[in-house]
Amino acid sequence: MAHTTVERNEDLVRIIRAAGLKVTAPRLAVLEALQQAPHSSAEHLLLSVLPALPGTSAQAVYGVLAAFTEAGLVRRFDPPGTAALFECRVGDNHHHLLCIRCGKVTDVDCVVGAAPCLSPSDSSGFAVLSAEVTFNGICPQCRNAS
Ligand SMILES: [Zn+2]
Ligand SMILES: [Zn+2]
Repeated sequence: MAHTTVERNEDLVRIIRAAGLKVTAPRLAVLEALQQAPHSSAEHLLLSVLPALPGTSAQAVYGVLAAFTEAGLVRRFDPPGTAALFECRVGDNHHHLLCIRCGKVTDVDCVVGAAPCLSPSDSSGFAVLSAEVTFNGICPQCRNAS
């Protein structure tokens, strides 16, 4: 079902309000950019919002992402060796496949059922709530290229 721009904007406003945050133009723009391109870095998001909101600073985008992450609207994913990536898919305990050649990130559903889908061999007395797993590998495009 195709959404009109106004409908999509109303959806974004609703999502931001439901998270208990004030709706601002940079927040709307960042959320929309993130919905269109999951696993985006702050730098990539800044480039996507600049055409609509010229003059937006990197600092502003970082601020929006920090507020979203804290409110549970956005999940931050820190692949080793590259910039933090952000996505709107939260709370489902999904994992990531990461290409070590080109950095492509693909979602993987939970490894086995509900969180935590992995049990440590020794939980040291912790009540384990979730597990964040990154599968490092080589994506199909990079495999074909070599
Ligand atoms: Zn690759
Ligand atoms: Zn993801």
